[in-house]
Amino acid sequence: MKPAPFRYADPGTLDEVLTVLSSEGEGAKVLAGGQSLLPLLSMRLAAPATLVDINRVPGLDTVEATGDGVTVGALVRHNALLHDDAAARVQPLLARATANVAHPAIRNRGTTVGSIAHADPSGEMTSVLALTDGSVTVATPSGVETIGWRDLFVGPLETSIHGPAVVTSAYFPALPARSGTAFAEAARRKGDYAVCGGGVVVTLDADGRVAAVRAAYISVGLTPEVHDLTDAVVGQPADSADWAAAGELARTLVDPDTDLHASADYRRLLVGVLTERTLAEAAAEALGGMA
Ligand SMILES: Cc1cc2nc3c(=O)[nH]c(=O)nc-3n(C[C@H](O)[C@H](O)[C@H](O)COP(=O)(O)OP(=O)(O)OC[C@H]3O[C@@H](n4cnc5c(N)ncnc54)[C@H](O)[C@@H]3O)c2cc1C
Repeated sequence: MKPAPFRYADPGTLDEVLTVLSSEGEGAKVLAGGQSLLPLLSMRLAAPATLVDINRVPGLDTVEATGDGVTVGALVRHNALLHDDAAARVQPLLARATANVAHPAIRNRGTTVGSIAHADPSGEMTSVLALTDGSVTVATPSGVETIGWRDLFVGPLETSIHGPAVVTSAYFPALPARSGTAFAEAARRKGDYAVCGGGVVVTLDADGRVAAVRAAYISVGLTPEVHDLTDAVVGQPADSADWAAAGELARTLVDPDTDLHASADYRRLLVGVLTERTLAEAAAEALGGMA
């Protein structure tokens, strides 16, 4: 199928983008990498009256990594973030999760911020925003606001952002000291959306014992989910903690649905297996960092 007819605008500044979005009203959509929006148009699952292409807007294609965290501009492609060493040093989950996003051709064009704005509960980067307690910066005609992930994701493909607005960047805080991370997923073919997946952060105390465990999951709920698994393993030595118990706890906390791709039981099983595996990996990394 071909998309329904639409108007196209490619303003050269952020102010002009907001002006066009305001004048076009609810029928207008921001176009970034087009890797989610254009398939929806082609299948006629969306029919916006106007596409407002932000690709000519300067200043949105930078990754800024400081000791506090990583700010990813709205036009940073998945592939650029995947290979950004400074960002990976500050927040390793960015590269680890991005490596699982789609295929190279899609990563060359699709943007990290676009995948967050798209709010697909199977999107890896939604879970990284949640797991790191991140936020987005949004420009509107009345000013700029920051929205934390908890207030951002409302439902599948739905955020709390309405009206004329452009997400200009996403912010991913750095890891706490003595932390390790891992990300893993199960997909029918590499590059496909995950049947189930997620990332973990394990934080140790100064004696190498488990102090905090957080895990985030994709493709198990209507929005990315974060669960605190600390209680299952707190105080245990990181090299011999009962990660299976943490995986078991995670299984009890999720409530996945059955769909064409997998049953709820299978997804719950995957949550347990992936959690146990990634926690052991993240703990080993945290211990390695203390050596
Ligand atoms: C075959 C295939 C496989 C894929 N597999 C995966 C996968 O495994 N994991 C995954 O996460 N993604 C996957 N994707 C999607 C891909 O990651 C997209 O790049 C991403 O979801 C959207 O980014 P985009 O820049 O292409 O956004 P677009 O397609 O341009 O936009 C998507 C939506 O977000 C809105 N939007 C985009 N940017 C902004 C902004 N700055 N401000 C406000 N609204 C904005 C648009 O209006 C639109 O509603 C896949 C895509 C394809 C075609």
